[in-house]
This record gives sequence, structure tokens and C-alpha cells, in this order.
Amino acid sequence: MTETLTHATPHASDEAAVDQIREAVRALCARFPGEYWRAKDRERSYPSEFVAAMTEGGYLGVLIPEAYGGSGLGLSTAVAILEEVHAAGCNAAALHAQMYTMGTVLRHGSQAQKTLWLPKIATGEVRLQAFGVTEPTAGTDTTSIATSAVRRGDVYVINGQKVWTSRAEHSDLMVLLARTTPKDQAARKADGISVFLVDMRAARGHGMTIKPIRTMINHATTEVFFDNLEIPASCLVGEEGRGFRYILDGMNAERILIAAECVGDNRWFVEKASSYARERVVFGRPIGQNQGVAFPIARAHAQGRAARLMTYEAARLYDLGQPCAEEANTAKLLASEASWAAADTCLQTHGGFGFAEEYDVERKFRETRLYQVAPISTNLILSYLAEHVLGLPRSY
Ligand SMILES: Cc1cc2nc3c(=O)[nH]c(=O)nc-3n(C[C@H](O)[C@H](O)[C@H](O)COP(=O)(O)OP(=O)(O)OC[C@H]3O[C@@H](n4cnc5c(N)ncnc54)[C@H](O)[C@@H]3O)c2cc1C
Repeated sequence: MTETLTHATPHASDEAAVDQIREAVRALCARFPGEYWRAKDRERSYPSEFVAAMTEGGYLGVLIPEAYGGSGLGLSTAVAILEEVHAAGCNAAALHAQMYTMGTVLRHGSQAQKTLWLPKIATGEVRLQAFGVTEPTAGTDTTSIATSAVRRGDVYVINGQKVWTSRAEHSDLMVLLARTTPKDQAARKADGISVFLVDMRAARGHGMTIKPIRTMINHATTEVFFDNLEIPASCLVGEEGRGFRYILDGMNAERILIAAECVGDNRWFVEKASSYARERVVFGRPIGQNQGVAFPIARAHAQGRAARLMTYEAARLYDLGQPCAEEANTAKLLASEASWAAADTCLQTHGGFGFAEEYDVERKFRETRLYQVAPISTNLILSYLAEHVLGLPRSY
């Protein structure tokens, strides 16, 4: 089985083709076993070799149209790729942003931006891995961001600060959200926010500073400071002031892709827990013979299967261009809970050994916990469903 996704790969709707892609992703991931991730985790270093292999395999260009050197497949294929990465015990956090920011560039970027960047992104010459939305004082309330972009002739001058900008040190481009009109002067709070495609290579040291944040997981996340950074006006994506809507468009894709990673994690934990429960003998019998051990694993498996169905349904609707916000949010909610239930169960099944690095359980346990907080926390998903699907009063 080839490990490279070729342009000849048929449509995503072709199940056999997607199965081939899954198999190729599994073969690639087999080259990056637990020891690799453990060492990266210990050193808090970026998995460059894994990102390079995924790029060379064509997997990061899956959503880029063929005309720009990608494979022009749909979100369902991206979902299958990320699911397999996580089910294999690897982690896509080092590379997934390129997939979930791609929609903003494809839908709203100018022809010149697409021609300039997409072929280079497809080959891996340029990495689009940084997504600067969150700010320390705004938190989840994105319309309260304060980072400003002021037009001066042919440039925008950026001032402000982002937090939790993951992969910033390993990315060449950043999709940046900034206010072009202060909130108190905008007609509506969602107006006056713009999206920019910033060339970080030119910006670093010329008004943009990156400071890593050490966290409980190896996520290469950072704070980014802007101090009179000048960027060409041609970096503006779409129309000035409409950026919040562009980003909202992309949120469904982001939620579906993260759900796929959680579904993959759920599969990894369930398999790991089951195999340990079959083999570990205590009191003269495999621990999995005890229903107190077996049932939580079976329950986590069932949760994962349900979350998986919702994730693929959301991706199917997304690929058809149909509304999918309810499904995308539900998939993210169910999948992040299914991965966490499986993680907790897997750790418990391993007893003391669950805490030992060499089993990889404690690392994956830490990693999968993130998805109930980022890229959007569970409460905000529930708020969306309560308000927009069930018609309950807005709570904030
Ligand atoms: C490792 C990591 C990587 C990240 N990567 C990126 C990135 O690349 N780019 C980026 O832009 N951001 C990134 N983030 C930020 C992430 O998207 C935010 O942390 C997340 O959206 C939550 O925002 P917050 O941390 O400001 O929490 P807050 O908004 O301060 O919320 C704190 C808590 O209060 C709850 N809460 C807040 N308001 C309400 C309400 N109205 N109703 C009910 N509950 C509420 C939330 O659910 C949450 O549990 C990352 C975060 C982490 C930890």
C-alpha cells in the first residue's frame, strides 16, 4: 500500500477509495510509534518528522483544489485521515489547523492570495498552521477581541495580543482575526472584525513576537504580541469588517475535524483497554472477566460508535453544502465526551500501570482532555444547541 495520496485518488464518496486512504494513513502512522511521541512529549518538542511525512503523503493538501496542487477531496476524507491518525496513537494537533482554516482561504481569499499561497501550502513549502483568534481578555467572547488593524495607505498596522496561538513557532502563515473598527463604534458587535493572512516569516522580529506557553500537553502553543506590525493591505482576506462571519463559516469544519480526532482517540483507548483487560490476570482470571471492568469499556465503545455516526453525518452535510451547525456541534460534544470516557476507563483498567509513561495511556489521557475546552468548550456547544436548535432564551 502506497503511503502517498495521489491526484488519481477517486471521489471521497467512493468508500473503497477512502478505505485505501485510511490504510495508507495507518501505514504512515506505524512509522511513528509510542516511543516517538513519548520522546516528543518529554522534550515538549514539535513532531516535525511526522508533519513532514503527512505533508509528503499529500494528506495536508486534501482540501486544496487540484488546480492548486492539492487533491481536492471533501471534509469527509479529512475526517477519515484525522480519525486514523488518532486511532493509531498519533496526534494531529501539530498539523490540523491547515485543514480547518482552509475553508476561510478558499471561500473568501482573493484569486491572487490563492495563486500565491495554495500551491506552496500543498507542497509543504509554506505551512499554514497558526490561527490567531483567542485573546486573554476576550476569551470565548470573540467579538470582544481588542487586537486592532488600522489601515495606513498600502499597509495595515497591527497592535495587540493573542493567546493560545498554537504552532505559531512552526508556521509560515497565520490566519489572524483583528478589529478594523473598535467594538463600540461598530453598528453590530460582529461587525468591524477582519481576517488577515499574515506572512509570519516577514513579521517575526518586525513587530511580532512569539512566546511559548508550557502546558500539560505537548501542543506548541504560544502567546503572540503585535507592536506596530505593518502588513501589506493585500493580506486582508475578503471584505474589511466581515471577518467574524468568515470565521464562523469555518467553525463547523473545525468542530467536525476535532470530533474526528476524538473518535480516533476513543478507538485507541477502547482497543488499549480491551487488550489489557483480556491479558492482565489478577485473582487467577483476566480482569476483563469482571463486569466492573468490562462494562465501562463496552459503554465507552458504544459512546464512540454513536459519536462517529454523528461526525460522519456532519461531514456528509458539510460536503453537500447543506446546513450542518447542529450536527457539527453535536458531533464535537458527543465525540469529546466519548474520548474522555474512554480515556478515563482505559486509565482505570490499567490500574497503576496507567500512570507509567511507557504505556502511552497517561499521555493520551492528558491530550484528549483538551477537546472539552478547545477549540470550543462544552458549555458553549450546549448553549448553541439550547438557543439555536431548541429555541431557548440566550443565556449570555
Ligand atoms: C492547548 C490549547 C490550544 C489552543 N489553540 C488555539 C489556537 O490555535 N488558536 C486560538 O485562537 N485559540 C486556541 N486555544 C484557545 C481555546 O479556543 C480557548 O481556550 C477556548 O475557546 C476557551 O476560551 P477561554 O480559555 O478564554 O475560556 P473562557 O472563555 O474564559 O471560559 C472559561 C470557562 O467558562 C465557561 N463559560 C464562559 N462563558 C460561558 C457562558 N456564557 N455560559 C457557560 N459557560 C461559559 C467556558 O465554557 C469555560 O469552561 C487553545 C487553547 C488551548 C488550551
